[in-house]
This record gives sequence, structure tokens and C-alpha cells, in this order.
Amino acid sequence: MKPAAFTYHRARDVDGAARLLAGLGDEAKIIAGGQSLVAMMNFRLARPSHLVDIGGLAGLDEVRVHADRGLHIGALATHHAVETAPDSALGPGFAVVREAMRWIGHLPIRTRGTVGGSLAHADSTAEWCLLALLLDAELVARGPHGERRIAADGFFLGHYTTALEPEEILVEVVFPRPAPHAALTEFAERRGDFAVVAAAVDLRLAPDGRTVHGGRVALGGVAPQPVRVPEAEAVLAAGRPAGSELFAECAESAAAAADPPSDANGSSRHRRRLIRTLVARACEEATAR
Ligand SMILES: Cc1cc2nc3c(=O)[nH]c(=O)nc-3n(C[C@H](O)[C@H](O)[C@H](O)COP(=O)(O)OP(=O)(O)OC[C@H]3O[C@@H](n4cnc5c(N)ncnc54)[C@H](O)[C@@H]3O)c2cc1C
Repeated sequence: MKPAAFTYHRARDVDGAARLLAGLGDEAKIIAGGQSLVAMMNFRLARPSHLVDIGGLAGLDEVRVHADRGLHIGALATHHAVETAPDSALGPGFAVVREAMRWIGHLPIRTRGTVGGSLAHADSTAEWCLLALLLDAELVARGPHGERRIAADGFFLGHYTTALEPEEILVEVVFPRPAPHAALTEFAERRGDFAVVAAAVDLRLAPDGRTVHGGRVALGGVAPQPVRVPEAEAVLAAGRPAGSELFAECAESAAAAADPPSDANGSSRHRRRLIRTLVARACEEATAR
């Protein structure tokens, strides 16, 4: 199927694009890499009358780690640019971000799809959304009235819904602190598919790597938006030895706390089993770093 008719606008700068979006109202949509939006338009699940193409805007594709300000990634950086970013750009504390990219679709999708597009699209299993929530990212949006920063835990509001206003453009995501013992893993029916369930953890380990002093656990595919699991995080907070016993308990607690849906991709029971396996696996991978 082909999309419904629309008028195409090529943005020249962020402020001009924001003004244009404000003028066009609900009838307009931003297009970046087009990897999600074009499919939705072809299926007539989205029928914008105007497309504002931000893909050619300069200066929004940087990937840079700052010693004191964390990792900054421009909204137009592609998944592949992050996957192939040199250590000098990403830094050793953000290996989890680079490694998570391999789970996103196939190479052609990763070379066109953008970080900002993924966050704005807000699929609950999207790797970027999970990483943002897990690592306390800040999302920087620019609109006709200036810039605002939105914490990831207030950004994802539900199924494909975010705190962005229709006239706001996501320009950057900031990961404020390194996460040397973090890992993301997932299960999909076929390689390149969206995950049925994705799990990510960020562990706080003692310097000798033997004791866990706390951590975060986040899940995708179990609720309309990615979620953290305080019950599983409480298990990690007790200062216990790192190892399979602790990780199994953490995973069991995440599975018990979650209330995953049943749908065409899997039953609630199947998803609970996946949570059990994936949380434990993510903990093992995070410890092995
Ligand atoms: C076969 C296939 C498999 C895929 N598998 C995965 C997967 O496993 N994991 C995964 O995460 N993704 C997957 N994707 C989606 C892919 O990662 C897309 O790149 C991503 O979802 C959207 O990025 P985009 O730049 O293409 O955005 P677009 O498709 O251009 O836009 C998506 C949405 O975001 C809005 N938007 C885009 N940029 C901005 C911005 N800067 N500010 C505000 N709003 C903006 C658009 O208006 C639109 O609503 C897959 C896609 C395909 C086709």
C-alpha cells in the first residue's frame, strides 16, 4: 500500500522547523530516518498531511562523551553511527550503549534509523527507550519557545506516546553518568525483529567485582512503555555476593512484579518466563564486563 497524499517540507534549521510545525498543527509530522513513520504511513496507520523532513539538519548527529557531562548523542545520529563510534567518542563506560545497537533491526535499518526517531516513536521494546530509562537519560527538546530538558522517567507516557509537544523537536539525548556494569539483552522471534521482551540492568559492584551494592532493572515489552522494576532492584540493594543465586532471585522478583500482556507476539506466561531468563542473563553479562 502507498501512503495518503501529503505535502513535503525540507527543514533548513531547527528553529525554522519548530515554527513550521507550530503553524501546521496536528496535521504535520516530523520525518527523520523514516524507518518507522513510512511503514506506518504505508499501512495508513498515520496519515499526516504535511511531513517536515529534519534529516538534513546540520550539527544534530554528534556522538561525544565529555569527562564531566556524560555522553551526548544528537537526535540525528544513526544507530549504526553509535554502533561504530570509536572509543574516543563513546568512552569505555558506555559500552552498553554501543552493544545494544546490534539488537536493532538489520544493518540497512540501523544505517538510516535515528536515535531521536527511536526515542520519539517510543516503542516499548525499543532499545533506546530502555537505555534512556535505565541510565537516567535527559531528552533535550527544542520548540518555538525555546529548549527544555525532560527526564526519561517522565518522557515515555504510554503506547507510542511521549511528553513531546507536536511542535517540539528532539535534538539530543544525554546519558549523565557512565555505566561500566550495565547490559541489555532480549528475545525476538527472528533476528532483526522487535523484541518480545527486552531486559536491561545497571549494577553497582564493589571495586573487586564480587559484591553487588545496588542496581537498576528495566524491562521492555511488558507494559505500554518501558518500566523499571523496584522489587527486583531491592534484591540487588542488600550488598550480597554477585553470582547466579542473587541474579536468579532478582530475575524471579522481576517476573513476579511484572504484569505483561498477552498478544500476538506471546502470552503473558511466555513473557514472564522470558523476564526470568533475560534479567538473570543481563546480570551475568553486566558482571562479566
Ligand atoms: C524491519 C524493522 C525492524 C526494526 N527493528 C527495530 C528494533 O529491533 N528495535 C528498535 O528500536 N527499532 C527497530 N526498528 C525501528 C527503527 O529503529 C527506527 O529507526 C526508529 O524506530 C525510528 O527512527 P527514524 O529516524 O527512522 O524515525 P522516523 O520513522 O522518521 O520517525 C518515527 C517517529 O518519530 C518522530 N520523530 C523522528 N525524529 C524526531 C525528532 N528528532 N524529534 C521529534 N520527533 C521525531 C516522527 O514524527 C515519527 O513519529 C525497526 C524498523 C524496521 C523497519
